[in-house]
Amino acid sequence: MQFKNIIGHDTIKSHFVNTVKNNRISHAQLILGPKGVGKLSLVISYAQYISCKNKNNNDSCGECSSCKKYQKLIHPDLHFVYPVVKTKKLKKPVSDDFIKEWREYVLSSNYHKLSNWLEHIGTENLQGSIYAHESQEIIKKLNLKTFESEYKVMIIWMPEKMNISASNKLLKMIEEPPPKTLFLLVSENHELIINTIRSRTQLIKISKISNTELENGLKKEFDLHEDELKNIVRLSNGNYMKAIEIISENENNKFNFEIFVELMRYSFAAKVIEITQWVDKISSMGREKQKFFLLYTLRMVRENFVLSLLPDNQNQLVYLNNEELAFSKKFSSFINKNNISHITNELESAHRHIERNAYDKLVFLDLSLKIIKLLRIKG
Ligand SMILES: [Zn+2]
Repeated sequence: MQFKNIIGHDTIKSHFVNTVKNNRISHAQLILGPKGVGKLSLVISYAQYISCKNKNNNDSCGECSSCKKYQKLIHPDLHFVYPVVKTKKLKKPVSDDFIKEWREYVLSSNYHKLSNWLEHIGTENLQGSIYAHESQEIIKKLNLKTFESEYKVMIIWMPEKMNISASNKLLKMIEEPPPKTLFLLVSENHELIINTIRSRTQLIKISKISNTELENGLKKEFDLHEDELKNIVRLSNGNYMKAIEIISENENNKFNFEIFVELMRYSFAAKVIEITQWVDKISSMGREKQKFFLLYTLRMVRENFVLSLLPDNQNQLVYLNNEELAFSKKFSSFINKNNISHITNELESAHRHIERNAYDKLVFLDLSLKIIKLLRIKG
């Protein structure tokens, strides 16, 4: 990994580079900062820079034999510790049991978070932990001589997930480190790290990504309207992963909006052939998507009811985006006090049926036929 691939953090990047130039690399550093800002990638880039055989003024070369190994996370002097979980087969799991998955996960993005990692190893319902027996692994690795680089680097991701006896053993190693060993601890919550470790490491604080940096970073990756981009940047509060989540949610909402409009138009005009085609389309989607669509429709119907009660100039009281509002200005006249609870009940019951694995074609066909009738009830 290289510094240039991570959005923002110019001060931290040049701090890291300067520690190398001035030969002042502290042997135990605690890198602390909020979620979704690229801390782990910054630290890996730092380690890659330290080990690079042909470093330039502000980044590693990306091409030497060391960089090539770093870019696959297979350098023999690079070691990782991260939260793992117990499974049926693994009663005493250590990080290396998951190293293949770890490399895949870390290299899949420049931004990481614990819940995504646990999801990647298929255990999102479990709490990850760094168990006591991990410390023996750490000792074993650090007592090896360095293979190719000047330093052995031990990156510990989420030391706050370390069990107390593992923390104490790590502390011993930090206090009396084997020569030419670097400990880089990457944390989101330093309150949860034992005091003695905190006091024996150099603290490097990473801030959130600035709005301008985030905006420029997102511009390179996504084709977004200026307004939408500004809105996403505002809502994500310097967290790149949050921005990505909002973008994907917006995409889903756009899709839900399209099929919602289709259903309402066909139902209003009682176009039965189109409705059966619509039912085929939604039935080909997965159950989770079908449930999202029903929840979206519930929200739209409720907002339209509120809109129907408001005078024209009070649109700001409804939570609709511009496109939704444009459609709802006409559509809201069909949602009224005499049909709102019936429509809501039908949507909720469809959601329940889908959740219980009912035959989806029947559920959606039944729902649309009811909507045809309910939209004709006058207020
Ligand atoms: Zn290099």
